Amino acid sequence: MHSFHYSNGSLHCEDISIADLANQYGTPLYVYSSETFRDRYTRLDAAFSSINHEVAYAVKANSNLSVLRLLAKMGSGFDIVSGGELFRVIKAGGDPGKCTFAGVGKTRDEIEYALKQGIYSINVESEEEALFISQVASELNLVAPIAFRVNPNVDAKTHKYISTGKSENKFGIDFEFILDAYERASNLPNLKLKGLQMHIGSQLTSVSPFVEAVEKVAPLAADLKDKYDIEFLSIGGGIGIVYEEALASGSESWWTDQSDETRPLTPEQYSSAIIPSLGPLGLKILLEPGRFIAGNAGVLVTKCLYEKKGTTKTFKIVDSGMHHLIRPALYEGFHEIVPVTEPTGAIDAVDVVGPICESGDFFCQNREVPNFVPGEFIALMSAGAYGMVMATTYNSHPLPAEILVDGNQAKIARKRQTFQDLVEGEEG
Ligand SMILES: *Cc1c(COP(=O)(O)O)cnc(C)c1O
Repeated sequence: MHSFHYSNGSLHCEDISIADLANQYGTPLYVYSSETFRDRYTRLDAAFSSINHEVAYAVKANSNLSVLRLLAKMGSGFDIVSGGELFRVIKAGGDPGKCTFAGVGKTRDEIEYALKQGIYSINVESEEEALFISQVASELNLVAPIAFRVNPNVDAKTHKYISTGKSENKFGIDFEFILDAYERASNLPNLKLKGLQMHIGSQLTSVSPFVEAVEKVAPLAADLKDKYDIEFLSIGGGIGIVYEEALASGSESWWTDQSDETRPLTPEQYSSAIIPSLGPLGLKILLEPGRFIAGNAGVLVTKCLYEKKGTTKTFKIVDSGMHHLIRPALYEGFHEIVPVTEPTGAIDAVDVVGPICESGDFFCQNREVPNFVPGEFIALMSAGAYGMVMATTYNSHPLPAEILVDGNQAKIARKRQTFQDLVEGEEG
């Protein structure tokens, strides 16, 4: 189930009215549902209960401390891509011993920090990086647990900017070179070959690329287990979510109706398709979901400021934009747009745009959306992942506040920035 719905004519997150939150805390405002985070984590975890596995939430999707704390309490591990993310996890009570550290460009400071904190594994993306980690670990007199990220050269069939598992992408080591990489790394000092990792892309809406990648990589993992006694295989993240119809009644039908092939993946479809290849390996299987856990757990609430009718178009100008939710501008991401007051049925084809001085600053173009007027609040659905984490202060707009709802409680997960915050650290 997910936790945004109309009740008595007004949009709610769990038991809390979003209009009340917008009036109290102002807009733009990110609102998250604890229940949805917990539900997605539990659902995915349960789908893999028949094999040895661990869920490592991909912090980059939504790294708010309150979100990380909620997941840490549920026993989640974390997939991090920077020293800063590790700092957040530790601050939120997460266990570095359940963290994997990915990314193509780790610095010495980040590697040292991760090793000193007792990271579970550093997921290495080149042989040069393995050599460097070996040197750093030797200097610190520590043993660095590592896994190589293999690039299985599988087409994830998702947007090109979020596809990572083809040989033309910068990620991982080509499948053809991976055994040599392990062989050479096994002779380097202060490294422990602990696992194998892959991640083919994000927002995958069909199971077949996952199956293709897992079937390609499973024999390699078995081989590495024989040769180097590795203990885990990480299959990355990438499970897609529903962006369209995120709210409409029956929105969760995809969730329960697993036979409907037009719907994105359910955790059960995902697990049942790949467990046959994974189970026999006898390795710990790591899952690194980001979007799946956070995406439908959040909305961005913004206020309509003006309506401008041009010769060819109607623009609805709102008080948020690409600076707070860049997915539409960056990779043609779709977010359902709904008025916070339940719409009466009138539909207009409009562009919903923000205040930023860029023509790319739009939430939708020529889209039929339920009618709303200046002064009204609207919600951009499914904004819990890759939303606030990519927000900037471009054009010197302070960052939005974030609210975490749990049942009938709402708490500030992040205060709204002030003008003073904007110039913090600057001289002049
Ligand atoms: C981004 C990323 C993930 C999470 O991807 P989602 O599509 O959000 O599930 C997992 N693993 C790695 C290595 C990543 O870079």
